[in-house]
Amino acid sequence: MHQLRLCLLLFISTIVSLQAQQPKTYNSSEIYEAVQKLNVLGSVLYIAAHPDDENTRLISYMSNEVKARTAYLSLTRGDGGQNLIGPEIRELLGVIRTQELLAARRTDGGEQRFTRANDFGYSKHPDETLEIWNKDDVLADVVWAIRTFKPDVIINRFDHRRAGETHGHHTASAMLSLEAFDITNDASEYPLQLEFTETWQPKRLFYNTSWWRYGSQEEFDKLDKSNMLTFDVGRYYASKGKSNNEIAALASSQHLSQGFGRLSDRGSQNEYIEFLKGESLNTSANIFEGIDTSWNRVAGGKAIGNILKSVETNFNFRNPSAHLPQLLEAYKLLQSIKDKHWRTVKTKELKAIIEACAGLYLEVSANTPSAAPSSDVKLTMEVLNRSSSNINLVSYNLSTLGTGITKNMSLAPNQKLNFEDGISIPNNSTYTAPYWLNTKSTLGMYNVKDQNLIGLPETPRAVFVDFNLLIEGTPITITKPVVYRYSKPDKGELYRPFEIIPIVSASLSHKVYIFENDGQKDIEVTVKAGKDAITGFVQMAYPDGWQVFPQKQKIEIANKGDIQNVIFTVIPPKTQNEGSITPMVNIDGEFYTDEIIEIDYTHIPFQTVLMPSESKVVRLNIEKRGNNIGYIEGAGDVVPESLRQIGYDVTIIKPEQITPENLDDFDAIVMGIRAYNIVDDLVFKQRFLLDYVKDGGNLIIQYNTSRGIKVNNLAPYDLQLSRDRVTDENALVRILEPNHPILNFPNKIGLQDFEGWVQERGLYFPNKWSKEFTPLLASNDSGENSKEGALLVAKYGKGNYIYTGLSFFREFPAGVPGAYRLFANLLSAGKQESTTQKN
Ligand SMILES: [Zn+2]
Repeated sequence: MHQLRLCLLLFISTIVSLQAQQPKTYNSSEIYEAVQKLNVLGSVLYIAAHPDDENTRLISYMSNEVKARTAYLSLTRGDGGQNLIGPEIRELLGVIRTQELLAARRTDGGEQRFTRANDFGYSKHPDETLEIWNKDDVLADVVWAIRTFKPDVIINRFDHRRAGETHGHHTASAMLSLEAFDITNDASEYPLQLEFTETWQPKRLFYNTSWWRYGSQEEFDKLDKSNMLTFDVGRYYASKGKSNNEIAALASSQHLSQGFGRLSDRGSQNEYIEFLKGESLNTSANIFEGIDTSWNRVAGGKAIGNILKSVETNFNFRNPSAHLPQLLEAYKLLQSIKDKHWRTVKTKELKAIIEACAGLYLEVSANTPSAAPSSDVKLTMEVLNRSSSNINLVSYNLSTLGTGITKNMSLAPNQKLNFEDGISIPNNSTYTAPYWLNTKSTLGMYNVKDQNLIGLPETPRAVFVDFNLLIEGTPITITKPVVYRYSKPDKGELYRPFEIIPIVSASLSHKVYIFENDGQKDIEVTVKAGKDAITGFVQMAYPDGWQVFPQKQKIEIANKGDIQNVIFTVIPPKTQNEGSITPMVNIDGEFYTDEIIEIDYTHIPFQTVLMPSESKVVRLNIEKRGNNIGYIEGAGDVVPESLRQIGYDVTIIKPEQITPENLDDFDAIVMGIRAYNIVDDLVFKQRFLLDYVKDGGNLIIQYNTSRGIKVNNLAPYDLQLSRDRVTDENALVRILEPNHPILNFPNKIGLQDFEGWVQERGLYFPNKWSKEFTPLLASNDSGENSKEGALLVAKYGKGNYIYTGLSFFREFPAGVPGAYRLFANLLSAGKQESTTQKN
């Protein structure tokens, strides 16, 4: 029973993965390739840490050349990365990168798996990584991935022997893979998993090495490669009109949020894998050496193999439906083999081939993209047989109903049938949002309790239809998830997954509200109806010491999809304080506290994410001098909005507007993150910025990466950036110049201002500077020497030049009080004298 449920889940999730924007259909070449793949019973699991770590050249080669069932196990969903295509960070970025991986796998033919490990940001050492992750849980998930996918061969992207030389997540992924290899076949390890699956021993384990592991091609050429296998991953596939490396480039170009869009590659190229563990190889270049990857591998498989090999050898490209009798014969034999694993895997493949050969078109579309429990939805079913085969639609089952709907209709060639059916979404339906975000995660781990969900890329679709068919007399059930199909005049036909959403959701306009004094603020709550005729009220949950008026506000929304905005007045406490507020919508006695976030990009399917609606409120003790701030944008950050929240007037200065006259008006100019890495105009404009300082201005430069600085004169004095960073957000900060004005005016900065920081202290600190600079702070990760370049100040002419690698851009959106207070001091630099005179 449990096994059945698992198979069903895996099965459904794969169908959904195939459904990008449009359902996948196969041409003759693709059917032929699917038949070739059907005849290979071998599998490869590629393991690394992040979305975009995977070597798509090798994954594509294993999938398209070797024809192995190939999967990529990414331990994390990449929440800790940057987002180059939009504002989503953290969990929402993890959702985007999950979908980018699925898009990459649709391109290179692989499958996708995950663990519950959370990408918490950069980690210098695997020891730290494994401490922040729950090592035992992540190891359990790697074991689970191996026991359920059952790979013959595992290939690690990273070298387990290089702790401390690369991202700790990378090395940890390789270390966990090695550890798992030794225990997956031991029933005493993680025995609870064996309620749902069986033990498994992969045959061998490799490391996907490369010349860059050895510093240079020359060094690599000199190596003894007797324990390595090599593959030409530049193979040309005539049936696709593409070479393997071209496919690989298309796949890795799906990682658009990481700026991976790139040119394709062609021509012969070698990849190397180094043997690490398992049964040693003779000299053959076959990773499956010693494993029978033909149908003879499974008991009862020989007869199936004979039929399917003949289909492959005599494949009819003009009319693939001619093979239906043989395919159906193989299908019947396959249902009776004892090996559950291969039966499940190959049945899914074979069904897709049968469906494609018959030119079957089966689709269920809803009249709405989403619906709440207990609401009614109209479904349109399209059923079409585009072959001359004898096919009957016996019945169909809606997943929301216990019983099927009998049809007993013959599907005449190319005569489309349309049915309409109304369904009521069951009251107890679970929402379709990403399952790993259902409950709060920790810094290191997602919290998923259901063993059968662990590792799945997506939440299995809740509403689907089983079409029960008789194809040439053989009963076959084909399952389709409900989709929403629509068109736009300027875009054409579009698809979205059909979602089950709460009857009501609420969101706050900001993630953080900063109160720079004890004045009250009005906060807007947007309530959105997930069904028609919503009436109820909304109230706020808020921390002790704060006050919110009024207590309750009435909600009345007539139509699904409409919103109602209500305003609450929030009064902060008299002293520094922080907490969180949550709008709670009460409908018929039940509270709803989630917000719905929609993610819409063209390279991935439309995503609907549900997250607890919660914002941070912070009462700051903060003093400010100067009000008029100019901001020159870099790679994108929310620093301008954050400064506006504490009352500054922030003007965005476009590169072409950087002129002496324009700069003159500002109390301070702030450079956005990585501005000197990406803004070409700064080559010509930097002198105006330095002149602005000389004339008494105050220039604050946030972090830039050490490589690819566009200007030669980053600072008025010698200043060299490095890769020094402090990744521990709690690392002790030592104040080097306690009497320096920047640390005393107008706010007295102390160690308490470095409490509650998130993700890291800072990055790309300068490591060399001329004597004009004063370093104000020192910090370091454990086991490293002191880094003193986090905050450097120099007088230049009448003004102040300030360079800081501190991660203000991360701390502001997290509402970290000390970060605001310190930044207010940076903006106030040099204002002390004038204030004193005024007083
Ligand atoms: Zn990585």
